[in-house]
Amino acid sequence: MRLIRVMCSGRVDLEFVLRAFSNGIDGVFIGGCRLNECNYITHGNFDALNMVLLCKKIMEHIGLNPERLSIEFMSAGDGILLTEVIDDFSKKVEALGPLGIGEERDADELKAKLEEVTKLVPYIKISKREKLDSRLEKIEERDGFFTSEEIDELFRDVVSYYIDPEKCQACMICLRKCPADAITGAKKQIHVIDQEKCIKCGTCFEACPPRFGAVQKDYRRACSTSYS
Ligand code: SF4
Ligand code: SF4
Repeated sequence: MRLIRVMCSGRVDLEFVLRAFSNGIDGVFIGGCRLNECNYITHGNFDALNMVLLCKKIMEHIGLNPERLSIEFMSAGDGILLTEVIDDFSKKVEALGPLGIGEERDADELKAKLEEVTKLVPYIKISKREKLDSRLEKIEERDGFFTSEEIDELFRDVVSYYIDPEKCQACMICLRKCPADAITGAKKQIHVIDQEKCIKCGTCFEACPPRFGAVQKDYRRACSTSYS
């Protein structure tokens, strides 16, 4: 078991969890303060909860048992509860078996899928921004908050942006507005989008003057293998 301390459970990014599984970790447990008792005005534990609900659905989608991820809320005085919860989770993960083997999935294939999803984290966060910002006060709101159909749709139409060299007028508008520094170019030089850096925010698509219409969208299907 490896403990990683963060200042708030809301700091545990979706990318961190996917990276842990990608590195072969069999289970991830997130312990947060009780809901509505956050030390910060941000109420980060609600963010952590939403992230976990989303991540579980993504895990299902790529063929990973979602039981390998868990979140619980407790106070600093709940030492006994913490040990019980950790103990139960450890036993559960042990029963599930090593990552991939328990799912009867090829380890390399699973790792490749996890890495593919990890690259899409900015896109996932932008696409699901509204739900990720929600505050689920009631336990019954959690079930079905993210659906399998929704996740399937999310990965069915993954958008990529590219610049048509025939149309680009090298006006630098998109380059100046890109929040990820993903566009290279200069005056009188055709601009190019670095797909590794692009977070698929669509700003360049909106910013490119309609008379040029140089930024194009392309859709492709990404990562699927449902867990059952
Ligand atoms: S805004 Fe459009 S025309 Fe201008 S540099 Fe970007 S892609 Fe080219
Ligand atoms: S989609 Fe967003 S991140 Fe990607 S190149 Fe365009 S502005 Fe930059």
